[in-house]
Amino acid sequence: MKKTLIEPSKKIPVSGIYDVVVVGGGIAGVSAALAASRNSASVCLIEKENGLGGLATLGNVVIYLPLCDGMGNQVIKGICEELIKVSVKDGFKKIPECWTDKKGTTEERSANRYRVEFNPMSFMLELEQLIVKNKIKLYYDTRFCDVILEKNRIKGITVENKSGRSAILCKSVVDASGDADVCFMAGEKTVSSDTNVRAGWFYYYEGGEVKRYSFTRPYDPYRKKPDGKMSFKGDDADDVTNFTVETRKLLLKTLNDMRKEKRDIRPLFMTSVPAFRMSRRLKGKIEIEEKHDHKYFDDCVGMTGDWRKKGPVLFIPLSSLTCIRTGNLISAGRCISANSAWDITRAIPTCAVTGEAAGTAAAMLCRKKLSSFSELEIGELQKQLLKQKVLIDRKIATRQEERH
Ligand SMILES: Cc1cc2nc3c(=O)[nH]c(=O)nc-3n(C[C@H](O)[C@H](O)[C@H](O)COP(=O)(O)OP(=O)(O)OC[C@H]3O[C@@H](n4cnc5c(N)ncnc54)[C@H](O)[C@@H]3O)c2cc1C
Repeated sequence: MKKTLIEPSKKIPVSGIYDVVVVGGGIAGVSAALAASRNSASVCLIEKENGLGGLATLGNVVIYLPLCDGMGNQVIKGICEELIKVSVKDGFKKIPECWTDKKGTTEERSANRYRVEFNPMSFMLELEQLIVKNKIKLYYDTRFCDVILEKNRIKGITVENKSGRSAILCKSVVDASGDADVCFMAGEKTVSSDTNVRAGWFYYYEGGEVKRYSFTRPYDPYRKKPDGKMSFKGDDADDVTNFTVETRKLLLKTLNDMRKEKRDIRPLFMTSVPAFRMSRRLKGKIEIEEKHDHKYFDDCVGMTGDWRKKGPVLFIPLSSLTCIRTGNLISAGRCISANSAWDITRAIPTCAVTGEAAGTAAAMLCRKKLSSFSELEIGELQKQLLKQKVLIDRKIATRQEERH
């Protein structure tokens, strides 16, 4: 049995009081904070690193996967579309013309999906400006530690930063930590995945040019860890450290292999967050499955295509974001409740969709003084999301049903 000790209780300062606390400043957290703030909530955003965007920027991911279904239909708008435009604001790369031009035909749009490659540093700077301009209180270098529960509600969280440990009181919490840290600490059921392989995209300098190396693809020869185990979960301290050290060993090996080809290569810039694709997620009332393709849920709060193939459309239910026990806690991004569809819901656009839905719902919960997301009037939430240009189009499901 692991050794334990009782931590002495002590008074800690309250460093803020907000309607909505968003934990994690990745794409999901930024989207949630923007949505909550634009819905008149006072909002703070807690981020342990010193930049916004999470894996998308600090993880050098750089491809904003599609906002369409691959058949020429746009299935995502709202904050997700606002952010794809922000991601290419520096003019580094452009959104395919057929998606910016109203005259783009279905054939052109099927052939060129609505996706883009962006410059991670420019995107990170732009995201920060967006948060500041929207008057969201930003806490960098601040780690979420624990929840302060009162019956089945979170009345605040504890955080640690340069000022020490403090409490932030709130009416609602969005868990956009990517790893379901808040859900886990609140005692919600979570699921961890051990499918993560060493990964970390880096930039290097060669022959006067800056180039990107994207390792690893899930099925490359480096997949196995030296001890023979297949992969990492990313849900405990040792695993995160081992993943990081092993990834860097692989990076060095990759560089040495390239140098053996007599190439003069210098590493320039690598990820500052561990590149876990699927670590820990919420197990909610509904776990989104691939078989839910074109299945409409009455509590739908947004839609997504499948970045891997053309055709599928998933309707995202509110009950895949909300918690079972903790009434005022909602998840967003890669840690929502998705099972076989996890590989879809973790993509940047879908994280923005679930972030916007979670932030809007959290603000509504506060405005209406409700104690649980289960008390929200779903029609009212959907009406507000539609007003924000979120796409929720039941006809897409109906048309598919008619075809069968
Ligand atoms: C190798 C790799 C390649 C990928 N390729 C693509 C791609 O090409 N296109 C694409 O669309 N998607 C891709 N993805 C997936 C996608 O990038 C991520 O799933 C998505 O960006 C996740 O967004 P998020 O906001 O949910 O989580 P994250 O980006 O993980 O953000 C979570 C944030 O929370 C912070 N945080 C975590 N815990 C705490 C805590 N306790 N306290 C305070 N802050 C905390 C983190 O620092 C981070 O900033 C890839 C992922 C990986 C790993």
